Amino acid sequence: MKLIECPCGSGETIQACCGKWIAGKKGAPTAEALMRSRYTAYVLEDVDYLVETTLPASRTRDLAESIRDWMSQVEWQKLHVLKVEAGGRSDTEGTIEFIAEFIGPEGTDRHHECSLFKKVRGVWFYAAALQ
Ligand SMILES: [Zn+2]
Repeated sequence: MKLIECPCGSGETIQACCGKWIAGKKGAPTAEALMRSRYTAYVLEDVDYLVETTLPASRTRDLAESIRDWMSQVEWQKLHVLKVEAGGRSDTEGTIEFIAEFIGPEGTDRHHECSLFKKVRGVWFYAAALQ
């Protein structure tokens, strides 16, 4: 196995970090772990993982297509997790504010979002963008 640094910037190898949640059948244990693994899935262009980790009620009909669309237009550079509120192992909700740097059609750009995560029957999902 090749040891490459995880794209989420944790400093761990991908196998010890987001790769565990993306490749495994086990869900990420916290909202932050899920958030980071979703960023890494964007980098790896793993559309299925992104759809599966979206709250079923939040999945739009064209979700996979819009994810693919976005992926084809941007090259992800770096993730900055700014603020984590709740979303721990004993919580059922959490919010995470982050900035994801990318190179898009207009050059270097950044996506700033505060995301809401919800846990349903022990599994964390991305629920919505709050801002
Ligand atoms: Zn990671």
